[in-house]
Amino acid sequence: MKNYDYDLIVIGAGSGGVRASRLAAGYGAKVAIIEESRYGGTCVIRGCVPKKILVYGSMFASSIEDSRGFGWSLTSSKHNWESLIGAKDKELDRLENIYINMLKNAGVDLIAGQAKVCSENIVEVKGRKYSASKILIAVGGKPFIPDFPGKEFVITSNEALDLKACPKNIIIVGGGYIALEFAGIFNSLGAKVDIVLRSNKVLTGFDLDIRDTITSELNKRGILIHNNQSIKSLEKNKNGQLKLELSRTTLISEKVMFATGRKPNTCGLGIKEVGVNLDKNGAVLVDAMNCSSIKSIFAIGDVTDRINLTPVAINEGRVFAETFYNKNPLRLDYDNIASAVFSQPQIATVGLTEEQARIDFELDIYFSRFNPMKNTISGRNEPTMMKIIVDKKTDKVLGCHMVGDDAAEIIQGIAIALKCGATKKQFDETVGIHPTSAEEFVTMRQIKS
Ligand code: NDP
Repeated sequence: MKNYDYDLIVIGAGSGGVRASRLAAGYGAKVAIIEESRYGGTCVIRGCVPKKILVYGSMFASSIEDSRGFGWSLTSSKHNWESLIGAKDKELDRLENIYINMLKNAGVDLIAGQAKVCSENIVEVKGRKYSASKILIAVGGKPFIPDFPGKEFVITSNEALDLKACPKNIIIVGGGYIALEFAGIFNSLGAKVDIVLRSNKVLTGFDLDIRDTITSELNKRGILIHNNQSIKSLEKNKNGQLKLELSRTTLISEKVMFATGRKPNTCGLGIKEVGVNLDKNGAVLVDAMNCSSIKSIFAIGDVTDRINLTPVAINEGRVFAETFYNKNPLRLDYDNIASAVFSQPQIATVGLTEEQARIDFELDIYFSRFNPMKNTISGRNEPTMMKIIVDKKTDKVLGCHMVGDDAAEIIQGIAIALKCGATKKQFDETVGIHPTSAEEFVTMRQIKS
């Protein structure tokens, strides 16, 4: 047995890397974690957490509007962007400290700097070499911006979270999770928002009814969606305004944000050079045990470009540590992983879309669009949409989809039912909580014709 400095070196202190390190150290492994930036990774520092704080901050705009129907008359409701960003930054500092302390308390060595993998068991940081029996790559991803003239003027979600002021107008290119979440934030805080798509609908891969419902709701909130556009160029005028030349129109705005997907962070990491197989986007190719083509090098989280969600990375970290440091071989089940888009209104989904399910099953579709109780008094014209996809033959629920208030909170519970293989009959036998929107999921009886 060779004498290594560590049993495990983890590169990247985001959600997946931190979970794997802490657990492995807890099981007695000698662990080091290397981080070049802040502890917490995309989720805590540049993604889920700061984004959700801004979503919460911006959602008060509709609450204030809605409150009028309930007898409130607020004379002033001016928003202070700087104060929201300050509160967000303070919370990120608090969380980062918690991450650092958790790692230290678990006995993990913290190494600051950029890691370069030099061989299958050696990692170099700031000229110093560290050896380990296993190396775990958990470096996540970063925003991808396609090439075009003027690309240097755009911002991504990284910068959007730290703007000095809320823009009066913003163009958002892309129609995925990040685009819709930021469109909601800026729109609710009073900015004029234009969304630019290369295709004809937002949220590729989501259920068609979700895509159509959210499009209609975004339009109602004043967000303009420009479909089927390709990017020609971006110029900055003398007055600082940005002119975005598209294939079928030209848009002018104070800010242009690209939310056109993310790329694995493997460039410069040295893993390709030591023989780790990557896909064409730079993602580490791994087997079900998270092992790469080199048997001492593993990868988890967004850098593997499987399902790029924080809880997935955390669970991949857990499975890795259990398997190799607790003699408890586990594999993550990737079926029925729920996810949410924190757009306004919110979207959440679990299981198959109708389009996916039709390939293998004969279906009963249950569909409901209704005015949630709060809206009857507030006067808000924003119906909630719910959909249940059922295998006609077995009665098993294959997918549930929702657009509306609290969709993420509701679908998280429904995801447990799907994980347990629930049938529509079991949904029907579940007694609802009244009055809620959620109860619609257990009271839908009409099959969509
Ligand atoms: P997505 O993959 O969700 O969406 C990318 C969007 O950019 C799509 O609309 C895509 O168009 C468009 N696009 C891609 N390339 C180009 C191009 N060259 N020119 C023009 N448009 C382009 O990526 P996001 O950046 O929104 O998010 C990245 C990932 O992060 C998500 O997939 C998700 O896994 C995760 N995430 C999860 C969140 C959550 O759980 N709430 C929140 C934020 C991110 P088309 O549809 O035509 O392909």
